[in-house]
Parts: sequence; C-alpha cells; structure tokens
Amino acid sequence: MENIKDFTLENALDQFNKNVDAIIVVNIDENSYHAVLKRGYFTDYIEDDGSYQDLMRKFWFHFNNTGNEITEDYRVFIPALGKVAGKVSKRLKVMFNDEARPVQLTIYPFGDNSSYIFFLDVLDSSESAEEFQTEAKVTTIQNTYLFSMYMDLVKDTTSSISITEISDETVNTQLKYSDWRMMIVNMIWPEDQPMFLERTDPMYLKSNFLPGHTSSFDCLMMNLEGKYIWVKLTFSRAETNNDEDYRFVFMVQDIHENTVELMSTLKKYEEMASMDPLTNVFNHGRIETELSNAVDAKKKSGEPVAVMMLDIDHFKQVNDNYGHSVGDMTLKRFCQLVTDFFKGSDTVVGRWGGEEFVAVCYDTDQYEIKELAEHLRMKIASETFKAIEHITCSIGVTEILDGDEATSVFVRMDKALYNAKSAGRNCVKSLP
Ligand code: GH3
Ligand code: MG
Ligand code: MG
Repeated sequence: MENIKDFTLENALDQFNKNVDAIIVVNIDENSYHAVLKRGYFTDYIEDDGSYQDLMRKFWFHFNNTGNEITEDYRVFIPALGKVAGKVSKRLKVMFNDEARPVQLTIYPFGDNSSYIFFLDVLDSSESAEEFQTEAKVTTIQNTYLFSMYMDLVKDTTSSISITEISDETVNTQLKYSDWRMMIVNMIWPEDQPMFLERTDPMYLKSNFLPGHTSSFDCLMMNLEGKYIWVKLTFSRAETNNDEDYRFVFMVQDIHENTVELMSTLKKYEEMASMDPLTNVFNHGRIETELSNAVDAKKKSGEPVAVMMLDIDHFKQVNDNYGHSVGDMTLKRFCQLVTDFFKGSDTVVGRWGGEEFVAVCYDTDQYEIKELAEHLRMKIASETFKAIEHITCSIGVTEILDGDEATSVFVRMDKALYNAKSAGRNCVKSLP
C-alpha cells in the first residue's frame, strides 16, 4: 500500500481477519460458547462448541505456569469470571502443549447482559517479555497472599475477590458472605472447621472487632492443588465512625513452611521436657502420664498391660563409698541396661525419682511381667559396673485390672516393691 489514506474499512477488517486467532461467542447464563473462528494454537485447543465454564477453566483456572488444573472446590468462582459491565481487555496466560503463552483477550458485550464476543490473540514472547518480568516480581511479593476479599456484613456481600495463584486480577463475583462462608468451610481441615465457623460467624465478627481492629487465626486449608497447607486467616474491620458499618477485609496467607518448621521445633521442646536429663529415659511427669494412658488403653482395648517398679538396692552406699559422680554413672548405665532389655517390645520406661524406675509394658499379663522382671533382675545382677562392680535391684510388678485407676495401680506396684525389699532385696514380688 502506497498511502495510508487509501486504506479503507474493508482493508482494516481484512487485516483484523488475518490476525486474530480466535473469535468466540459466549452466553454466560446458558453456560455455552460457540467458536466462530479458530486458527493457529487455538485450532485444537478448544472445541467448536462447549460449556462456558470449561472454556474459563482452560483460560484461568490452572496454575500460571503449568497446565495443572486447580482443585474442584475452587471452581465455584468460575461462573462470575468474564461477567463484565462493559468492554474489557486483558492478558491471560494460556497453556498450549505444556507451554504458557501470553494471550490478549478482548471482551465485547452484546445483546442482553450475558452474551459476549471474545477476541483472542496469541502474542509472541517478545511482545510481552517485559510485562511478564514485572509480573513475576509482583507475584513473588504477593506469593504468600493466596486469597483476599472485601466483605460487608450488613449487606451480606463480598467483593473484589482475588485469588493470586490464578491471576492478579480480582474476580467480580456476586457471592453473599453467608454463602461464601459455607462454601469455604469445606476446604478447611475437618478438625478445624468448628473454629472456622466460630471465627467467621457474623455475630462473632461484629462483637469482637472494633473499627480498625485486625485479628487472625491459623488452620489447615486445602490449597488450589487439593493439598492441605497451613494458612493464616486474617480479618480486619474497616476504620469507621459509624457503629452500624461492618465492612471487613479478609485475607488468606500461606504460612505452611514456617509453621511446619515451628511445629518440629515445638515437638523437640516437648520431647526435651519429657526426658530425664541424667538417664535419658522419660522423667517423672511423663511416665506418670504414661501410667494414666495405660489405664485408659486397658479400658478401651481390654488388652493386658502390666507395670513394674525397680529400685536399686543399697544405692546410698554407692554414693557414700564411691562418690556422687560414680553414683550418677551407675544410674546411667543401669538405665541403659533396662532400655536395652525392653528394646523391640512395646514398653515405656521412666525415672520415678532418685534410683527408682517404672516400666509400662503393653501387651503383657501378670505371668509375663513376673517372668520379664525376673530376667531383668538377673541381668542387672550379672552385669559388671565400673568401679562398683555389682549392684542388684528389687522389683515390684502388677497387672492393670478392670476398674483400676492410675493411683490404685501405683499403690499395688509400690507395695509389691516394698514386699521385695522386705523379703531381703534382689528379688521380684507381684500383687495380686
Ligand atoms: P534400698 O535398698 O532400701 O532402696 O536402699 P537405698 O540406699 O537404695 O535407698 P535410699 O532411698 O535410702 O537411698 C537412695 C539414694 O539414692 C539416696 C540418694 O543419695 C541417691 N540418689 C538419688 N538420686 C540420685 C542421683 O541423681 N544421683 C546420685 N548419685 N544419687 C542419687
Ligand atoms: Mg528408693
Ligand atoms: Mg534403693
């Protein structure tokens, strides 16, 4: 063409015709689309006719750089996508054969307010490289924010919903807050659902949030891939002087990695708090808990559980004759022998105090516990200890009976031990 002034509408339409990659007519209310034109990437990508929701799922509801679709529960947001008041132009990332490509989408409403024409153009990477770089930066900043929205409790509405993993754009849905809440609760880990319902209850929010107040709680929630992750749910009430104004911002933040790390640290502290530092078996508090657990386990399963209490004989003399540090060393070694003895069995060992120890032996009845105790007693007596050479211990045993409480079990076990001491030490006694 020589002169642009010779260019006509026909020429322009012709150019448009040659360039645009797909033209699709959609009716959102009827959930249908019809492709008027498909070429290039779009030839195989979409059917000639289909459901609007499937089309939207292909365009939006996959992860930005993979074709992986998001989990079923989140598709409730689809019907509202594309429903726009006027003409709209936006960029999408669409997955063609495992490759994300930028696509320019222009939406023209026509007829009633649920019919639209979609014009789609695949851009080559140079046309949008820069844009994607900045977008990537924004995404890393936003990454921890998975979801946000505004809500108005008085009108029971939500607005400007944003699901950052899918798109930076907000979803203009007409969801009621009360409906949203009952939808989202299904994505919360079942055990956390009661807390979620309590904290998201409009009455709760109204009575616990002064204007400007922000508060959050953590729970497990299904992410877009269908996996449960730790999230922080934050509600923040808008600043207002009007007591009847209950507008909030709500936000879901991904705190999974930090929380998992925090929990493993807490677990370590919990373990540390349960151990006796000298002997490395459970401490008094923890073994006392185990005794109660054993009583409960017996009540629930009916499987036999037996317990034993061990007390080193004349241990005071060890300290008196060889010093406290040899005493400590002997206690350590004694515990190591007891722990090794029970290795592989379902037995929990703890230090009751001083030179007294308790073992809770699951799956063990009154006959087996006597035999076990006798073996253990002989093993201790036959060992050679550093400096002191030999020690012995006395052991009291009992089986947990129906109707027992932790105290009654302890009383019998303690009495059996007393009987062993009275009988001259280095022996096993059982009750009843
Ligand atoms: P019995 O045969 O009647 O059990 O005599 P015993 O000497 O073992 O009993 P007693 O209760 O009179 O003394 C227990 C001793 O255990 C007293 C205390 O010095 C010692 N002991 C308690 N805890 C520790 C500890 O942590 N380290 C050391 N080295 N000794 C301890
Ligand atoms: Mg003692
Ligand atoms: Mg003793």
